[in-house]
Amino acid sequence: MAEYDLVCDACGKPVEPDDAVVSWSSAEGIERGFALTHTAHVPAQATQRLEGRQAVWPSGYLWFVTDRLGKRVEDLDALKAILAALAPFVMRPDNPTEMDSMRAASFGQRLGVKPGAAPSAVAAGAQEPHEGGK
Ligand SMILES: [Zn+2]
Repeated sequence: MAEYDLVCDACGKPVEPDDAVVSWSSAEGIERGFALTHTAHVPAQATQRLEGRQAVWPSGYLWFVTDRLGKRVEDLDALKAILAALAPFVMRPDNPTEMDSMRAASFGQRLGVKPGAAPSAVAAGAQEPHEGGK
């Protein structure tokens, strides 16, 4: 199991962000039952959900955190565990794409492409119209 794998709260098996859902229920101003599960294992009583692919994106994660502020949360430990599990996906410094983008930016090169590497045919083709200067 990789260091950053998410684990389904329902079945205990690893779950990819694409197939993960953060769910909870909200009633009478109280939020409870926070769970991170496979899409197929979302608890039946859940009334709210956030797709995993949104939860691991910085803006989606930040929305999820700030949207909880000021709410009454019954099972705070479950929410904390979910935030901790998602955080490495949002902030990990060793994400290869992220690292290549930072290096490329520092060399004034194309984001997402390792400095010195030839851009893919698709990327090169996409740049052509802009480089014609006409
Ligand atoms: Zn599961």
